[in-house]
Amino acid sequence: EVTCRYVNGIGAVNAGALLICFQDITHLEQAGKMRRDFVANVSHELRTPLTAIMGFIETLRGPARDDAAARDRFLQIMEGEAARMNRLVGDLLSLSRVEDEERIRPRETVDLTGILDSTLRSVRPLAEDAGMELTMSAPDDPVIVTGDADQLQQVFTNLIVNAITYASSGKSVHLELTTSERDPAVRAPAARVRVIDKGPGIDPVHLPRLTERFYRADSHRSRELGGTGLGLAIVKHIVNRHRGRLRLDSELGEGSVFTVILPRS
Ligand code: ADP
Repeated sequence: EVTCRYVNGIGAVNAGALLICFQDITHLEQAGKMRRDFVANVSHELRTPLTAIMGFIETLRGPARDDAAARDRFLQIMEGEAARMNRLVGDLLSLSRVEDEERIRPRETVDLTGILDSTLRSVRPLAEDAGMELTMSAPDDPVIVTGDADQLQQVFTNLIVNAITYASSGKSVHLELTTSERDPAVRAPAARVRVIDKGPGIDPVHLPRLTERFYRADSHRSRELGGTGLGLAIVKHIVNRHRGRLRLDSELGEGSVFTVILPRS
């Protein structure tokens, strides 16, 4: 008599005295590859500024030793590269924390209008430096969700900073908060926050992968503007933790809309 079983990727064939076990390890291989890719990416992202810093140290010790103007310039560049490494380490820690907490439901009740107000206050200086106008529309009454106030503020900060960084040509970013009695995306009463820019937009080929760690639509531009490539990955995990949805709509030459949909308490 021969019996076969196959449960959750683990299989067994029993033929009397002979028992053969087999396991589908495709998902294990995939997880291993993802981990290896992540380590390779982190190493590359850290090594690039480090190589630059080491190169400048060598130049300062040698040819530029007595050149005061070159020394100031190189020190400034080194400071910028060190700041980039610092941002990357900060984002890696945030990502690891939000990945760990993804299965733990937040318990506080928070007012989204207040969180958006305080986010706007903190990013306004950056917008002013970029010559951009920041506007917001929201209902008069508080909009209450169950959530983690700091993490939600991080979501909106990342989205608005991205809009200021990549869409400054559009001159304005609008933040819109609306509510509905039933949103099909979360099948519950919901709040929608839309971050709307009028920048260059994003090529549709990039949209499905944009929330992956280290994925950038334009790597050169992102690095030049100080991006770590982790901002949207962090956003995605926080939104998942809140049982929400993140939507990206973008049209080349028209701008982008990033929508966060959260179930309301
Ligand atoms: P980064 O640190 O590179 O900004 P993110 O994960 O925050 O990483 O964003 C990923 C990529 O998405 C960016 O490198 C950029 O190419 C693109 N992007 C994000 N927001 C916008 C936007 N508002 N307009 C155009 N491109 C954007």
